[in-house]
Amino acid sequence: MRVLLIFLAFFSSVSASVGSVITAPPAAPTVVIDAGHGGTDQGARAHMPYCEEKRIALQTARLVKKYLDQLGYRVIMTRNTDIFVPLADRVEVANQASSNIFVSIHFNSARATAAQGIEVFFYDSKETKARTKASKKLADAILSRVLRRTLATSRGVKNRNFYVIRETQMPSVLVEGGFISNAQERSLLKSREYQEKLARGIADGIDGYFKARWRAAN
Ligand SMILES: [Zn+2]
Repeated sequence: MRVLLIFLAFFSSVSASVGSVITAPPAAPTVVIDAGHGGTDQGARAHMPYCEEKRIALQTARLVKKYLDQLGYRVIMTRNTDIFVPLADRVEVANQASSNIFVSIHFNSARATAAQGIEVFFYDSKETKARTKASKKLADAILSRVLRRTLATSRGVKNRNFYVIRETQMPSVLVEGGFISNAQERSLLKSREYQEKLARGIADGIDGYFKARWRAAN
């Protein structure tokens, strides 16, 4: 079944370009997946039930990698275990690999415990307008697919000056996949089933972003 779905995914992208010149698909794009926090940096935390941002970010990032692997992408993780990785090293991994895109995965926390939902950030660089435009497209693609899978509340696509999405040289986004401080969302975030929906949505969004670029270029 999985093989059939992958086949259909490729078939639909090929059939969409019938009528124009069909060229061979490009070499598999490289995607850097950045699981936020790790090691001594736990990120947002809640105690009832116990939940750490660093753990959910890593679990979700691993699932995103699994789905992207299945779709044929080359995936690099900035961390694959519970270790501390400085922000500069995360950026370095992406820049050194000349990655096509960078996607950072985080979870939110707020004093207002009713706050919930998913938001995706990009960095608005005045110097590199093409990167900004592509980052926003990637953010839009990921948010729409994630909402479709999770049925979560949308907090929108937003421009924010975060280090990892500012210093990376390729289109970059930071996904805030939900609020650990909201009891209802927290119990969803802890479940494997919900993490799978979230990760599937992120992978769908990435795949949709590349397919749209490929169609535009052919
Ligand atoms: Zn975070």
